[in-house]
Amino acid sequence: MTPLTTDGPKSSLRAKVRQLRQSFLDRLPQMAASGRTLSASLAVSSDALDEVHRIFHTIKGTGASFGFEEISFQAGIGQAVITAFRDGGGPLSDAGRIADELIALFDRIELLAAETILANAESGDAQTLAAVGGSHPGMSHGKRIFLCDDDDLAGQQIAAQLVCFGYEVVSFADTGALRAAVIVKTPDAVIMDIMFPNGMNAGTEIIESMRRELPSPPPVVFLSARKDFEARLRAVKAGGQAYFTKPVKATELVETLDVLTDREKPEPYRVLVVDDEPEVAQYHGLILSEAGMTVRLLHEPSSILSVLAEFRPDLVLMDMYMPVCSGRDLAQIIRQIPDFLSLPIVFLSNETNKVMQVSALKVGAEGFLTKPIQPDDLISAVAVRAERMRTLRSLMVRDGLTGLFNHTFLSQYLSATLATAARESRKVSLAMLDIDHFKEINDSFGHPAGDQVLVALSRLLQQRLRHSDLVGRYGGEEFAVIMQDTGPAEARTIIDGLREDFGRLSFQAGEQGFSCTFSAGIAGFPAVPSDHLMETADQALYRAKRSGRNRVCEGYAGDGDPGGVPSGERMAPAAPSVAVGRREDIGHG
Ligand code: GH3
Ligand code: MG
Ligand code: MG
Repeated sequence: MTPLTTDGPKSSLRAKVRQLRQSFLDRLPQMAASGRTLSASLAVSSDALDEVHRIFHTIKGTGASFGFEEISFQAGIGQAVITAFRDGGGPLSDAGRIADELIALFDRIELLAAETILANAESGDAQTLAAVGGSHPGMSHGKRIFLCDDDDLAGQQIAAQLVCFGYEVVSFADTGALRAAVIVKTPDAVIMDIMFPNGMNAGTEIIESMRRELPSPPPVVFLSARKDFEARLRAVKAGGQAYFTKPVKATELVETLDVLTDREKPEPYRVLVVDDEPEVAQYHGLILSEAGMTVRLLHEPSSILSVLAEFRPDLVLMDMYMPVCSGRDLAQIIRQIPDFLSLPIVFLSNETNKVMQVSALKVGAEGFLTKPIQPDDLISAVAVRAERMRTLRSLMVRDGLTGLFNHTFLSQYLSATLATAARESRKVSLAMLDIDHFKEINDSFGHPAGDQVLVALSRLLQQRLRHSDLVGRYGGEEFAVIMQDTGPAEARTIIDGLREDFGRLSFQAGEQGFSCTFSAGIAGFPAVPSDHLMETADQALYRAKRSGRNRVCEGYAGDGDPGGVPSGERMAPAAPSVAVGRREDIGHG
């Protein structure tokens, strides 16, 4: 034991740990080297199996103690591979392949150690492709995907695309390593190519072993070059949740992954319960909140208008008989306000008289439930109607192709946000984005290919921006992003990161691949007054287009004043038309 120094016990301990970490890292290459030699011998004899297992064991334990999570993880895979080999069976029973696999793991560990030393980082996280450009606070955390593809290039391409959409991707070139890894550190989803020699069987085995070992196995997505029915059927029978034919469209894959990994969690329904009897209101409220809904109770009908405006329910559950004002009267008052014309109102009463029920429905109630009601019946009656309301409302404010907010909503939201920002002295930035040479993409690859690009950009914006940032489709291939509490310089950095990532996406039209870019203009409130914000961002976008596209420009106060370039001329082609065909040709105008 080294004696504590005069620095004090704490700093000395820290220094000591740092030293130990460093010496472990320094020792790793040598451990990996002997691991490799011993692994190679496994191809002819299994004598060294225990020794290799011990090396992995040491690396795993010590690595974890020092916070080298990824190194420890890789070593854990090594242990699991050896255990599976001992148990026999499957592709892991082949001694030659097991040797190769273990050697590859030692290679990876050594590489990780080298990278950690180089970066002098706190943890070696090099093998995982982490989401890029994640500097925006509160950006959605990446889900972890294990990707197994023996075609290295195809695998890398898919991984790169998924990373752009905020996923973390760990790649495997071999199903054996994948099989071990899914048990050691369960990912949120597995993607595997089943066109390996024996790929489909490996897929089945992996799914079966996950079902055996894990309480909730992750979903598996199969990739294949085969489009025929039989291949698809086999994939379904193997237990795959989705099937994609190669070349894979990244947007479709992401869409599926978002659903499978539960990244798109719907907001709970919001229900306002109006009843003059507190106990009854509480009882119904309790049933609904137990079912996961957000509930507000109201006993005093006269305050309903302010509560509606503030709480914004998806549905109102209302008692029919109340003093001062009946449920019927209250429904009529609600219907007088245009904003609440379509708000579902469900009456709850012990009234069984059909005539009374009909009269209640005539004032625009959505339904009539009689007390006492079974909790399950109440929950489903409310959920069905709230869901329908959600759908209807989203049709009104959302764009059909991309699901983003539409122009009308965007404009309303911008003015409301700016009014609040002015009142509370907060910052707002507005970014206007326009896809470069989009017409040529339509012309060369067809309208559906153009749509694919629009959907991809929408998803990219939605995934990568914060919840408090609002993304809308402003027009055909124009998008707007409203960022609260964000200055223009920060907004510019964020949009510029998205611009780079968008340019990296590759799209598929038939056999042809292509990529494209966007230009953007930024304006920030309060530096730019609120009534000039839109024009200023527009002018900046125009400048980005004129100065060569595929860039982000910032607009300043005064840019958007009358006398600037009329917005109608904004899209006039400034750069010579580019040739379209190969991906390198597009979007660098
Ligand atoms: P620039 O770099 O100057 O922005 O050139 P551009 O070709 O992108 O701009 P322009 O405004 O000339 O063309 C926009 C094109 O966008 C024309 C229109 O057909 C296409 N577009 C608009 N809405 C949609 C849509 O919903 N789907 C598809 N596929 N294309 C659309
Ligand atoms: Mg355009
Ligand atoms: Mg345009």
